[in-house]
Amino acid sequence: MPLYYGYYLDPTYLLVLIGAVLSIIASARVNSTFNKYAGVRSMSGMTGAQTAEAILRSKGIHDVRVEHIRGNLTDHYDPSKKVVRLSDSVYNSTSVAAIGVAAHECGHVMQHHEGYAPLNIRTALVPAANIGSKAGIPIVILGLILGSNSVLINIGIWVFSLAVLFQIVTLPVEFDASRRALACIEQYGIVTSDERSKSAKVLKAAAYTYVAAAAASVLQLLRLVMLSGRRSN
Ligand SMILES: [Zn+2]
Repeated sequence: MPLYYGYYLDPTYLLVLIGAVLSIIASARVNSTFNKYAGVRSMSGMTGAQTAEAILRSKGIHDVRVEHIRGNLTDHYDPSKKVVRLSDSVYNSTSVAAIGVAAHECGHVMQHHEGYAPLNIRTALVPAANIGSKAGIPIVILGLILGSNSVLINIGIWVFSLAVLFQIVTLPVEFDASRRALACIEQYGIVTSDERSKSAKVLKAAAYTYVAAAAASVLQLLRLVMLSGRRSN
């Protein structure tokens, strides 16, 4: 117990707190930006669902369905079932925020359709990243409890690195999906160029949440490395 207690009171825990603060700020920002532009109706009057259908059709993609899912900002593309799921505030909304989010998910469909390499790498990393995020830190803590067992600590750090790698590979995938989304909605006349810049603000705020998550995981990893270095001295 004292070691476990010491793990959290260690000064390097500040790095974890910085990561948490970055994530909270990014999350608050995406919520406020989305809510602001959820109140701005597009001139085309197209809903999120209609936007997604129109983009997929224009791209010649006919085997992907568009469905409604409960929740707030739960929108995603499920490549295994080939379904774009749009949330309450996107599916039936005609706002520039809803159009931006719906188009972003179609950006992921396009990536999947053409075998975009960073998406393939990201998908391949999912199982390893799940193990890394769940087991990495517990293995390090176990190593510390068992008298600073450096083999266990190093294994824990490497396992956790897989989760960090996943967060980093996510960044180009997300940026690229938004880039594709913004090109489509203006090109297909779903939004005007002025509305496009508003949709872009929503997608930019969403991108920051991924940047914050990646930064938080890098800080966490840095902390584990610092802890292991100190214990071995
Ligand atoms: Zn995305």
